[in-house]
Amino acid sequence: MLAVLGAVAAALLLLAPTPARASGGVVGEPLAVCVLRAEPGMTARNLFATPSKFDCQARQRSLGPGDYWVISQPLTGLSQRERRTRVRIASLWQKDIALYALYPDGRIREFALTNRQTSWHIHLGAIVEWGLPDRVEPPVRLLWRVRGAANLRGIVALPRLALPRESERANLEMGALYAGFGGLCVALLIYNLAMWGALRYRFQLAYCAMVASLGTYAVTSSGALAWLVPNILNNDRLRLNYILLAVAASCAMLFARMFFERSVTRGWTGKLASVATLLLLSETLVFAIVAPWNMRLFDTLYSACFALMLVAMLSIVFRARQLRSPYLWLFALAWSAPVAFATMRMLSNIGLLPWSFWLDNSTILSMSFEAVMSTLAIAYRIRLISQERDEAKMQEMAARMLADTDPLTGLLNRRSFLAKAMRTDEEQKLLLIDLDHFKRVNETIGHDGGDEVLRIFARTLRLSLPPEALIARIGGEEFAAAMPSRVAIDVETLLASIRSSRMPFDIVVTASVGTCRGPLKSDTDWKHLYRNADRALFAAKSAGRDRVRRADQLATAA
Ligand code: GH3
Ligand code: MG
Ligand code: MG
Repeated sequence: MLAVLGAVAAALLLLAPTPARASGGVVGEPLAVCVLRAEPGMTARNLFATPSKFDCQARQRSLGPGDYWVISQPLTGLSQRERRTRVRIASLWQKDIALYALYPDGRIREFALTNRQTSWHIHLGAIVEWGLPDRVEPPVRLLWRVRGAANLRGIVALPRLALPRESERANLEMGALYAGFGGLCVALLIYNLAMWGALRYRFQLAYCAMVASLGTYAVTSSGALAWLVPNILNNDRLRLNYILLAVAASCAMLFARMFFERSVTRGWTGKLASVATLLLLSETLVFAIVAPWNMRLFDTLYSACFALMLVAMLSIVFRARQLRSPYLWLFALAWSAPVAFATMRMLSNIGLLPWSFWLDNSTILSMSFEAVMSTLAIAYRIRLISQERDEAKMQEMAARMLADTDPLTGLLNRRSFLAKAMRTDEEQKLLLIDLDHFKRVNETIGHDGGDEVLRIFARTLRLSLPPEALIARIGGEEFAAAMPSRVAIDVETLLASIRSSRMPFDIVVTASVGTCRGPLKSDTDWKHLYRNADRALFAAKSAGRDRVRRADQLATAA
């Protein structure tokens, strides 16, 4: 199982960078940039004149937070340069940012954005975009001044120069991606809430909470929030990203805990999950409040808390495997992609993997995959549950059958016979049938032979009596049959069938019958009927056996 998880993670690691080359939010010609820490007195004009001052080797994130200048490569070699009017960079935490464009005639245009204005320039995929004037000669070089860069993932990340149609197409593609995800979230919410209405599993609510927070995360992290609330500070939108991702991860953990049997998260796995969730939530809260104070430390702690969450999640999977949970394989399959991507994001956050646009947006894709798999997982769980329910029903039926029937003959026993017979208002006819000289039968052919005689006798009763009759074995070799009085019955024929039935060692067995009629609605009725039928039976025995006597005839005779 872990091998499968590992293989999936490895495959995803290999595949992950590929889409970055495809398209999505990252479109246009990539620009090489060099950086310089800002110092007082520096101006755009001076810096355009002395590009050699810039450091082109250092990795941006190794330089730490602060104020920076970032200069692009000369633009003159770019294809379709005159039409590449969209300057795009990834949105990052910073106080403000200004873009300077140097034109062939030496003029410099400034496009400064405060943090609030940055929100107005956000495009889907959280890309900050400037539109350069298109009626003038294209610029020859670009320069950014970034103040208060947190520099967690870079200072100016993924700078590109795009054609307007590339930018529009990117918005359209990202719009389709996020709309698809939004639709999926809505469908999942409705489906799981409806399912919860029917099944009342708590894990369904945890799942809904996770889907809702991920859906909201998609709105904030895609930049769509900046379109909905244009006056939001871009940094506040980033704060929300951190919070919503932590909430979604906590809900996912809650889901995992509730999804498996209780035994899986009893003990240390449950404690580890609680500790990890609590740490993540409190760390995120402090981070969101104090940022940008000590941001790099808190960001690293954030990643560390996520790492702990992953460990806790894996420990739940491990424990479920130990306890052979039937739900494990689907859970592992569904969550392999999100877990693998979360791991990669974390590695990228701490600098062990290069930052990529797609990795940053991987949550959306992997969660879509997870959602589909989880839906299957839930359906599978329901299937197992209904199987269990069907089995329980069968067992209950079998148990009831056992409790209601006489094991030797398969006829009703006395208790169920009475329970069933007393259900009707109609006048009943009661037959008491007793084998004649059964002691002798036992003595002649043995007790086992006697048992066989009882079985054959029961079958003869079943075949000879009308289908409406309830037939029971109420004593050792004493039987009772009850049926509505209106049902015609020929006892002489019954006696003849008994006499002629094929018995072990070809012995001939006869029976005596006492009958009577009357209501059978209560215990008192039964006692009364039974007493009369028994008297009739006794009369039949006294008269020589192998015959029938009716209680009412006895009364006339008396
Ligand atoms: P009668 O014609 O007067 O009814 O004589 P009987 O011998 O049939 O009556 P009695 O009540 O004296 O004896 C009934 C016998 O049935 C006694 C008992 O050993 C036997 N018996 C009761 N239950 C079973 C059983 O489950 N299997 C077998 N083989 N014999 C049983
Ligand atoms: Mg008998
Ligand atoms: Mg008897």
